Amino acid sequence: QGAASRPRVILLCSPCLGHLIPILELARRLVADHGLAATILFTAATPSPSEEYLAVAAAVPEGVDLVALHDESDMAALPPSASVRDRIAHAAARSHPRVVQAARSLAPLAALVADANVTAALAVAAELGVPLYVFFTSPWTVLSLLLHVPELDAAVAGEHTDAAEPIRLPGCVPIAAADLPSPMLAGRSSAAYARFLHGASAFRKADGFLVNTFRDLEPAVLGGVDGLRLPVHAVGPLMLTRPATVARDQKCLRWLDQQPRGSVVYVSFGSGGTLTWQQTAELALGLEMSGHRFIWVAKRPNEDPLGCGALFGSQAGADAALDFLPEGFLERMTSVGLVAESWAPQTAILSHQSIGCFITHCGWNSVLESILNGVPLIAWPMYAEQRVNAAMLEQQVGVATRVKLEEGGLVCKEEVARVIKHVMETVEGETLRKMACELKDKALHALSAEGSSTQAIAQIANLWKSGS
Ligand code: UDP
Repeated sequence: QGAASRPRVILLCSPCLGHLIPILELARRLVADHGLAATILFTAATPSPSEEYLAVAAAVPEGVDLVALHDESDMAALPPSASVRDRIAHAAARSHPRVVQAARSLAPLAALVADANVTAALAVAAELGVPLYVFFTSPWTVLSLLLHVPELDAAVAGEHTDAAEPIRLPGCVPIAAADLPSPMLAGRSSAAYARFLHGASAFRKADGFLVNTFRDLEPAVLGGVDGLRLPVHAVGPLMLTRPATVARDQKCLRWLDQQPRGSVVYVSFGSGGTLTWQQTAELALGLEMSGHRFIWVAKRPNEDPLGCGALFGSQAGADAALDFLPEGFLERMTSVGLVAESWAPQTAILSHQSIGCFITHCGWNSVLESILNGVPLIAWPMYAEQRVNAAMLEQQVGVATRVKLEEGGLVCKEEVARVIKHVMETVEGETLRKMACELKDKALHALSAEGSSTQAIAQIANLWKSGS
């Protein structure tokens, strides 16, 4: 079948690299393995694409079209102080006419897939007359929570944060009040919560879900949600198989080549995570105190209260100098550690044999990439749903240990050193590593030709090709 006449899937992607990355891989599989055509419409949120975005965009698989929808006038109406969440919602709502127009010109359409902003996507799907599927880029546990939010809201009298008992969902780790996703912590009368509740209700109107998880990681995904007849397909772990590497990446990889097997702690808080000035200093000194080798992807400190000041890769223009590190730190660490400025080739790093553990903000891609390489995790959740991910990885899956916060949320240098030594030097750390390796094998199996995730993608692709 010629490319033009193949049924096409339109994938709507919100302006976060953490979503674009697995969506690219989903699109690649639909095209390469199932003969569908795929176009990703990426609602950019900044006028000029960041260096990180360009690196990811350069890795677009063959046969997949990536179209960045951006109109500066879209964002001009927002005050500079608008939150990340406001920006994303705003970009999604404003891009609606352009999405419909672009999609119409790409018929025949098989399905619309959206990663978030489901309310806006439902309206687009209705206008185009195609089914809407949600590609959920976080674990099933979080989707299960979202799908239960309307009932949870009706059942709770005060604030979610006042609950004495954790939230218990079938097969999922109990979710303590303090670990709830950021909007649920915001207070039930807040605008953020109202939007979250509205968005969660919209999820139930989707025609089905593709979740970036796998059966052996979250067996509960097979059960779906009681009382809701929503098809749920576990299609993960999806991550870029051919990530682009740029010249400066080679420095990290060459350095890793020279380190002993399993000796290096990799530290990164994803595409958006930023630490305060004080926290940056504590982390640096804690790494030093631990006595272990490390690669740290350090972003310029930022006092953003949520800790996601760099979510749009907006370090562009910031001077890349590492002048925010404690005095003398880089000199003292010359032979022990490497500090990468702002961005590093994460999947290549995690698959390197020198890596011993990963200090992560628990962004879901980072977690899956670590699991796919059998690397145990030190969970340092920051915002969004990351605390739920951390609880699940520590208490249910057994591949992570979580940092302890001081009053005020700081992770002090002693704690950084303690947790590194725990994972790198103790029997408990060895157990985490063993669990991570076992899970790696199960993940690879899920992705193999006969594996559960490959079968799930085939099932959904056949459904779309048949016009259902
Ligand atoms: N990433 C990377 N280099 C970096 C930071 C992040 O390649 O220096 C990639 C990482 O491999 C992952 C994605 O960006 O695929 C981040 O997604 P995640 O869900 O972990 O976190 P988010 O950035 O969405 O918070």
